[in-house]
Amino acid sequence: SLNNQQYQLLQELGRGRFGTVFRCLHRASNRLHAAKLIHKRHLTDSTDRRCLQVEPKAMTFLSPHPNILQIIDTFEDADTTTLVLELCQRRTLFDRLSDDGALPEPHAASLAKQLLEALAHCHALGLAHRDIKPDNLLFDDANNLKLSDFGSAEWFGEGVTMSGVVGTPYYVAPEVIMGREYDEKVDVWSSGVIVYTMLSGIPPFYGESVSEIFEAVLRANLRFPTTIFRTVSAPAKDLLRKMICRDPSRRISAQQALSKFIFY
Ligand code: ADP
Ligand code: MG
Ligand code: MG
Repeated sequence: SLNNQQYQLLQELGRGRFGTVFRCLHRASNRLHAAKLIHKRHLTDSTDRRCLQVEPKAMTFLSPHPNILQIIDTFEDADTTTLVLELCQRRTLFDRLSDDGALPEPHAASLAKQLLEALAHCHALGLAHRDIKPDNLLFDDANNLKLSDFGSAEWFGEGVTMSGVVGTPYYVAPEVIMGREYDEKVDVWSSGVIVYTMLSGIPPFYGESVSEIFEAVLRANLRFPTTIFRTVSAPAKDLLRKMICRDPSRRISAQQALSKFIFY
């Protein structure tokens, strides 16, 4: 249902909870993009429907940034909202971690820095992403990391506080599970969990069910098993402790975390 047949939809690239993403051809320029189709009938409650407005608005507001997925166009009809996006590779960070396991530290550090650059930009502009996880981290042709999927993003600051459970069990911050008001530091927690997983191949908080995972997250007992972390540097572990810190007021900010990367 792309307007005026300006675009031709090609093969499916992936799907999430609400969106199905296709490769698409912009006929006039002969360029390839991605088209994310969000079917409105799948969005039954008002929280879900929020993403229709917030996702294109947030992406437009944040762009351009080298580590944030570029939005190119938006179309709207009775049953579908379509976002035309910069095309990325098929394999997300989720696919890479599932296929290849742990990454060598210099590689993990480079990805961590790019993720923190994206976060620092969002947070400086007053946006929290709230769904930072490996399936939402994409790579362009030059292998630059691109933060995507702003459907759960929320504005903060100026007396505006956030609440409500959003995110994905392994990555969600303890204060979100506790149902407290929270701030943009939830994204730093999730990013810390991702960096830990990139370095070790295993998540820091694990359980057989969602409630077991949540219990482990709430305990926030961060450990670095020697067999797995033997080759990981002390500064990397120190940064992980500061990012995966239970108390959000003592947790490092994205901007402060970035200042630790001067040697990479
Ligand atoms: P949802 O909001 O439903 O989670 P996403 O925006 O995360 O939807 O997209 C779902 C999946 O589609 C992603 O995890 C990824 O595999 C793929 N995808 C999304 N955007 C792109 C893109 N620009 N280029 C390539 N693949 C993409
Ligand atoms: Mg997603
Ligand atoms: Mg989404």
